Amino acid sequence: MDVVIGIDLGTTNSCVSIVENGTPTVIPNRGGYKTTPSMVALTEAGKRLVGHIAKRQAITNAENTVFAAKRLIGRKYNSPQVKNAMLSSSYRIVEGPHGDVRIQLREKQYSVPEVSAMVLQEMKVIAEDYLGQPVSKAVITVPAYFNDNQRQATKDSGQIAGLDVIRIINEPTAAALAYGFGKNIERTIAVYDLGGGTFDISVLEIASNGVFKVIATAGDTFLGGEDFDARVIDWLVSGFQAEHGIDLCQDRMALQRLKDAAEKAKCELSTLKETEVNLPFIISSGQNEALHLQRPLSRQQLEALCEDLVDRTVAICKQTLADAKLDADEIEEVILVGGMTRMPRVQEAVQGFFGREPCKGVHPDEVVALGAAIQGYALVEDQKHMLLLDVTPHALGIMTFGNYFEELIPQNTTVPTSRTKTFTTSRDNQTAVKIIVMQGESEKAEQNELLGEFILTGLRRAPKATVEIEVTFEINSDGIVAVSAKDLETGQLQSIQVTATSGLTQDEIKKMIDSAKDFLVDRRTNDEVDQVQHEAERLIGEIERLFPAVEQLVASSDFGRDAIGKARSVVEKSRAAMEKKDVAALKEQIEGLTRTQRMFKGVVAKTQ
Ligand code: AMP
Repeated sequence: MDVVIGIDLGTTNSCVSIVENGTPTVIPNRGGYKTTPSMVALTEAGKRLVGHIAKRQAITNAENTVFAAKRLIGRKYNSPQVKNAMLSSSYRIVEGPHGDVRIQLREKQYSVPEVSAMVLQEMKVIAEDYLGQPVSKAVITVPAYFNDNQRQATKDSGQIAGLDVIRIINEPTAAALAYGFGKNIERTIAVYDLGGGTFDISVLEIASNGVFKVIATAGDTFLGGEDFDARVIDWLVSGFQAEHGIDLCQDRMALQRLKDAAEKAKCELSTLKETEVNLPFIISSGQNEALHLQRPLSRQQLEALCEDLVDRTVAICKQTLADAKLDADEIEEVILVGGMTRMPRVQEAVQGFFGREPCKGVHPDEVVALGAAIQGYALVEDQKHMLLLDVTPHALGIMTFGNYFEELIPQNTTVPTSRTKTFTTSRDNQTAVKIIVMQGESEKAEQNELLGEFILTGLRRAPKATVEIEVTFEINSDGIVAVSAKDLETGQLQSIQVTATSGLTQDEIKKMIDSAKDFLVDRRTNDEVDQVQHEAERLIGEIERLFPAVEQLVASSDFGRDAIGKARSVVEKSRAAMEKKDVAALKEQIEGLTRTQRMFKGVVAKTQ
């Protein structure tokens, strides 16, 4: 029988699960724990340790123990995120041959997928021990906000671990699958996932026919439990500095002990009101005298240290609901995922925002792996009645002449999907075009994230805007993007699977954009319908995004109600004109749309 395991490859902990006799089950490891630390270490004797055993020796072997590798996966060495991670890592992060990230463990450097593969391999062995048979297929989960490179790198990790990764699914979607499995319910739910390294929020509709549709998703790949720990560490370090004039951060071993103690105190304060951080012999004073660190910490203090982190998650929830065009009271259930949701302040903030108590029936550490196993089961057992419709977490498009970002696939589009748009050359006799693939929400190209680039050469010499190039974006069920460009006259085609260049700094992106100027495509100028339609779509999108906020702000006055009525009418008229492809009528509406958009922006800006 073909078994598929579901793996939640977490920043801090990982979990593996299967569907056994129709029931999703978490598989405990040899120690009987249902989760395994995502930690890898190399001992002096060259032995590789993974999981609890790696965690146990982390303090004495801090330099050769890797934690939170997920924060580095699919990123470039020079990216701000990697620089940030380096500040809190006791192991050495070095630059690889292609500007990628390598981890130095004793004499050898490992790529991040190699390190993640060690964790995945451990999960595979846990499953094989339990089942008594080899396992080769897996569904692995990633944060919904993971970009293409991070997904691809996760898939590579699976392959290195000897697993055929039959699908990558988003963690919140997996949680929803586990929540809805076998329940035959119809419900709009939100999944609030705050783990060790990342935050995700997703809004989904579960239909009674087994369709799980994601309506909107957002998050922050650098907001999680580790940031909470870092606040406690900073607090301890500055207290110690004030008392003894010694910076504990300079000592790797002390830093690792601080990290452990900070996390422990944070977790304890989820059940206790007060705890104490106690680290005897943390460092030497330099005069042969051992110094100790001992400080009480209350839940209230912890909450104050981390208040802005919790607020950041709520702000993202707010934006996601606006994107989903839903009010908080339309969410019928809130599911909490991730270890950090055990913190009472986090639960209070979620309850405060959604106005309802979060669901208690799912286990925050296990629900994601269970969902992955359910998805794997559905794929191999051909359970057609269970359908998962996920969405793109970002808008995807290319850069066009003038440094604009031209969107091909809007944010929150259901995947798999494919979109095509036609562009033209931007210079006379331009014989090559560079397709710069980006993701993000800004109209300005340099403010978005670069995913990759390629060149289509051999175009015929012709005046600008007369050579047409058709660009196609295709996103598969793993959320991985393929882009192709075709010369419409000759049929010549170039394509890439977008993997090459993410994680660049804004400066690097700017430089790249400058050097590509002469090779860019332009929006098709000879197609007026396209142009006007595009502009109208952009304006309507912006107006609709702002609608809920504006409505809330001005609906109480007659003037406000009147303005909202007019805005609705201009959007409706524009839509009707777009449908009929009536350029003249649409052009008439553009002015009204522009005015409305400006007014909306003004109203919202005044209140910020
Ligand atoms: P996950 O990535 O879902 O395994 O979440 C791990 C994060 O949850 C880590 O930052 C843990 O410190 C944190 N965590 C685990 N248990 C608790 C707890 N009881 N209270 C607060 N945070 C916790």
